[in-house]
Amino acid sequence: MFRGPLEESLVRRAQERGLVTIRVHDLRAYTRDRHRVVDDVPYGGGAGMVLKPEPVFAAVEALMAGRADSRVVLLSPQGQRLTHQVALEFAARDHLILLCGRYEGFDERIRTALATDEVSIGDVVLSGGELAALVVLEAVVRLVPGVVGAEASVRMDSFYGGLLDYPQYTRPASFRGLAVPPVLLSGDHERIRRWRRKEALRRTRARRPDLLATAPLTEEDRQLLQEIADEEGGGPRPPPGGR
Ligand code: SAM
Repeated sequence: MFRGPLEESLVRRAQERGLVTIRVHDLRAYTRDRHRVVDDVPYGGGAGMVLKPEPVFAAVEALMAGRADSRVVLLSPQGQRLTHQVALEFAARDHLILLCGRYEGFDERIRTALATDEVSIGDVVLSGGELAALVVLEAVVRLVPGVVGAEASVRMDSFYGGLLDYPQYTRPASFRGLAVPPVLLSGDHERIRRWRRKEALRRTRARRPDLLATAPLTEEDRQLLQEIADEEGGGPRPPPGGR
């Protein structure tokens, strides 16, 4: 499940350049019984299997040896939602352990006595933590300094400055009668900067007004928001439905 995503594109290049090291570990390697069992039936009965504490504790403790700064991140639909802030916090760490569950999930003692963080990629249940771990990993790797060629392109991404990104266009200037906004063809860098900022604010106001409440806004931003309110009338528009 890991080979493809880890061997392609930005994550592959980050490893090749020595900016990150990613290792995949098999919990079965940390079992002590002949059948290398990692799961067992739930106490109290019921369907499914539960990941046993012994191999998970043994694996994490072996990987943490000599590393007091490790974060042990349990992937779980019950965890804190993955956000840009969470990814930034992880990107600032030297060592992360991402624990992928299967079946009915982990023995609760893994959560209470081993994990330092519990992260969900959204209010939906996957069959296993592997894809969730890859989502966390890609979000974090992008934020490691030097990984994305043009640092500015990361800083302009949605959420980085507290806003959604502005709309992007590429050639042709007119496609099926749909024209690129003329300001982007003007070559006037100041007008383009102002237009992009205004459109980022307009989009955030329309789709994620909650972000505007915490975004660091300048005096110019407030003026632009006032212009948008005058153009569109009234308060924040509801997020577009069904898209
Ligand atoms: N019974 C568990 C519950 O309801 O909380 C769900 C177990 S799920 C079938 C198996 C594993 O997939 C979990 O232990 C977790 O590692 C992973 N997983 C499922 N959904 C996830 C999500 N939204 N975010 C992160 N990990 C998830």
